[in-house]
Amino acid sequence: MAAVAAKKKFRQYSQEYLKYGFTTSLTNDTMPLCLLCEKTFSNDAMKPAKMKDHLERVHSDKKNKYRDYFKTLKENLKSRSDIKTFFKAPASADTEGDLKASYNISLIIAKKGKAHTLGEEIIIPAIK
Ligand SMILES: [Zn+2]
Repeated sequence: MAAVAAKKKFRQYSQEYLKYGFTTSLTNDTMPLCLLCEKTFSNDAMKPAKMKDHLERVHSDKKNKYRDYFKTLKENLKSRSDIKTFFKAPASADTEGDLKASYNISLIIAKKGKAHTLGEEIIIPAIK
């Protein structure tokens, strides 16, 4: 505990902060994340006093919760984000597939522009 963040540019997260309901952002571990409102704060808020203050002011009903409570929240958050990543990959691939499909269709239409007009000229009167 001796070498305090004096020389470090960023304040580091400590497991101790879990008791204030804080973990780190899933994308940036220099940013604290409140497990209760799931808001991410700047590195500036990586101070026990600020975290405690947030817990007491914003989540006063949870301030007497034990560390285990926050640990469970943390695990839930993590598993949820894992699920999100899991579902995200195929979803974005689908979007790309759709885009490609409609691109291909317009390409076909463009190529067969003549045939399309021809189709209209022949098929439509035929239906009538
Ligand atoms: Zn909060």
